[in-house]
Amino acid sequence: MRFTFVTLFSSIVEGYFSDSIMERAKEKGLLGFDYLNPRDFTKDKHRKVDDTMAGGGAGMVMMPQPLSDALAHLKEESPQVHLIFTTPVGKPFTQKDARRLSKKSHVAFVSGRYEGIDERVIEIWADECFSIGDYILTGGELASMVMADAIGRLVPGVLGNVESLETESFESMLLEAPTFTRPKSFHNLSIPSELLKGNHSKINALKKTMALSKTKYFRPERYLKFTQRDSDEKSIY
Ligand code: SAM
Repeated sequence: MRFTFVTLFSSIVEGYFSDSIMERAKEKGLLGFDYLNPRDFTKDKHRKVDDTMAGGGAGMVMMPQPLSDALAHLKEESPQVHLIFTTPVGKPFTQKDARRLSKKSHVAFVSGRYEGIDERVIEIWADECFSIGDYILTGGELASMVMADAIGRLVPGVLGNVESLETESFESMLLEAPTFTRPKSFHNLSIPSELLKGNHSKINALKKTMALSKTKYFRPERYLKFTQRDSDEKSIY
């Protein structure tokens, strides 16, 4: 799967995907990362990418021409590319979106800067617009990285242990049960003893109880949905 980051500040993104799991996925040819800078598509000698806001108001807006030309270039080179715009007014990005998008061959993320992107570019080019939460970031790079990470780890082969994905939080209505590792006791707190006895049906029952309590405490709205679900819904425990 290929990710393209359309950004004025590619160095912010490059570092993150040059390490650890993502770097290994790159080496194995499972994921590819490239960058496209709208500034390379400017037509004036100052390579200007922003302009004042129409109608007045504080701050600058990303001009339509350089960004639109960059996207036209990308679309011509890769007609199947799925174009995602990052914006705080977009729909909230979820695990379901990550799973759906992990089946695409090429996804590009467009990062806004300043007060955002001229709306007409979004209207012309966006396949989807996503927000990563109800707060304002300085630019779309972090949002793009968050989404690419969540999508990339779901591409088959990227993670070693695919079983661990099944019980992860947000794969079902329940959050994942708490996890532990050695030592048995730490600061006088012990690992629940059932987890150490090797009886898998008892371990699963305990994990489900812990997942239920955790969900009820941290995400009561998900707990409520879980308790009201159709009893045929797949249980992960
Ligand atoms: N003036 C805009 C508003 O109030 O909606 C905010 C612009 S923000 C300072 C600049 C860029 O950061 C946006 O164009 C977008 O690309 C990105 N951004 C900021 N917050 C975001 C969020 N919560 N989710 C996704 N992208 C975000």
